[in-house]
Amino acid sequence: METIEKIPDKMMAAVLMGPNQVELQEVETPSPGPADVLIRVETCAVCSTDVSLIAKPFAGQPPYGDFIIGHEYAGVVVALGETVDEFKLGDRVAVEAHLGCSRCRNCRRGNYTSCLNHGNRKKGHRANGFTTNGGDAQYVINHINTVYKIPDTLSFEEAALVTNLGCVLYGFETMGGFVVGDNVAVIGPGPLGLISIQAAKALGAGRTFLVGRRDAPLQIGKANGADRVININKEDAAEVIREETDGVGADIVFESSGNQSGLDLAVKVAKRMGQILLLGFAHEPIPADFAELALNNKSIHTVRGESWANVGRAVSLLKQQKVNLRPLVTHSFPLSQIDEAYKTYTERKDGAIKVVVKPNES
Ligand SMILES: [Zn+2]
Ligand SMILES: [Zn+2]
Repeated sequence: METIEKIPDKMMAAVLMGPNQVELQEVETPSPGPADVLIRVETCAVCSTDVSLIAKPFAGQPPYGDFIIGHEYAGVVVALGETVDEFKLGDRVAVEAHLGCSRCRNCRRGNYTSCLNHGNRKKGHRANGFTTNGGDAQYVINHINTVYKIPDTLSFEEAALVTNLGCVLYGFETMGGFVVGDNVAVIGPGPLGLISIQAAKALGAGRTFLVGRRDAPLQIGKANGADRVININKEDAAEVIREETDGVGADIVFESSGNQSGLDLAVKVAKRMGQILLLGFAHEPIPADFAELALNNKSIHTVRGESWANVGRAVSLLKQQKVNLRPLVTHSFPLSQIDEAYKTYTERKDGAIKVVVKPNES
């Protein structure tokens, strides 16, 4: 196996030991299969999905004690599997979590984030940080189909968020992909909401609205792609959007809050024939006004992850500087302080938006 440096036999990793129990452990450094690369992880971002699966395992998750968390990461290729000529040692790379199995009907049609063999490692399914080991470790292996070379101009902090932008672009592609001139409303100014607003602008959206209840993230949105921010504690969002779209409503609505009032608002402000994308995951069943949807030809779409190789498109947008993820990365911690990293993220300490862990820094 070709390597760039002496790879240590053991590495430090954040292992999930039980519900809400993440422990730093010394574990064996993995070695790449024939079509894999070994990545030295420079940054791994904390995501709400991590918080959820740390609290309660997702389907297909490996058993406690045998699972390294983290699915949003970037780093340097330091070893190549025997058949790999797509990458070179030293390449700076970003990744997507989902590989899929490559053999089920969904995967064969490119829908690998909805693999029908989800969690079945024997059949080849992998989703790093979900069903296979993730990036909160000094090293991680990725199949080359999930690896994207990034330009030198892109920092590892931003590169860790590439998968978020990929997910948003997958959302736009799911809804038809043509955004030019469309009025776009985004509900929920969390990381994905803030990225959605920027992506909408980059794709040529008409007027963009960002709706939330906290001023700090709304202001970041205003500086990065939102034509109009609406704080629902101060204004009636439905009224503002209706008024500022000539009484019609939004062509596209991204529901990124995951709560009842967010979904209700999305259904309400989507124009007739409008499209709604569910980006936020609700934690309990939420009723929706299906009569309003059906009588007005409004559609709801869902996306799981960052399918159809949209991480590649995300890298392209970043390379062209059409989207800037840097303002979203507010905090960084070494791996030894991963608990503090999660606390900072979940408690939104000091205006935290995205928090990254740096496994190879002390
Ligand atoms: Zn994530
Ligand atoms: Zn599959």
